[in-house]
Amino acid sequence: MTVRTVLTWPDRRLLQSAEPVEAVDDPIKTLVADMFETMYDQSGCGLAATQLGIPLQVVVLDCGTDAEPEPLALINARIVERDGEVVWNEGCLSLPGITADVERAQTVVVEALDAEGREIRVRAGGLAAVCIQHELDHLDGRLYVDRLGKLERLAALSDYDKARAAAAEASRPAREAAPEGGR
Ligand SMILES: [Zn+2]
Repeated sequence: MTVRTVLTWPDRRLLQSAEPVEAVDDPIKTLVADMFETMYDQSGCGLAATQLGIPLQVVVLDCGTDAEPEPLALINARIVERDGEVVWNEGCLSLPGITADVERAQTVVVEALDAEGREIRVRAGGLAAVCIQHELDHLDGRLYVDRLGKLERLAALSDYDKARAAAAEASRPAREAAPEGGR
């Protein structure tokens, strides 16, 4: 298993729409394993293949705890039922440093293939429901900030730019020390 690089905004590959997976073969199983490895490495609770620059309909999530993980891979997933409304403070590995409140369906039912290619039907609520909707949005080339109002979206992306600039500044090598007795 390999930890892969997660693309961050404004990488345009995040805007790609993902294609259905034709067969859950060995390369897809390797991709799923790498996606879990990458998601856990980044302490995320979900990851979409488009975030790795791979436009295929594959997402992984784990909304369990360290003691009781609940890994779930969803391939060619479709939401077939939505119920209720919930506002959730969301973050994203592709937009590190910011969060925002997003309105989502409270429960969803999703039909998909699992990592072995078996048909599954999953009913999810709470964090898992939010996570599924967030990750499936990625497969349509949509980020959670695109669900905000126009001004809120601009404010969130402006905060993101500031967070990125601060992170870049912090990781810059220290300037050379002034020569001895120079000042
Ligand atoms: Zn995300």
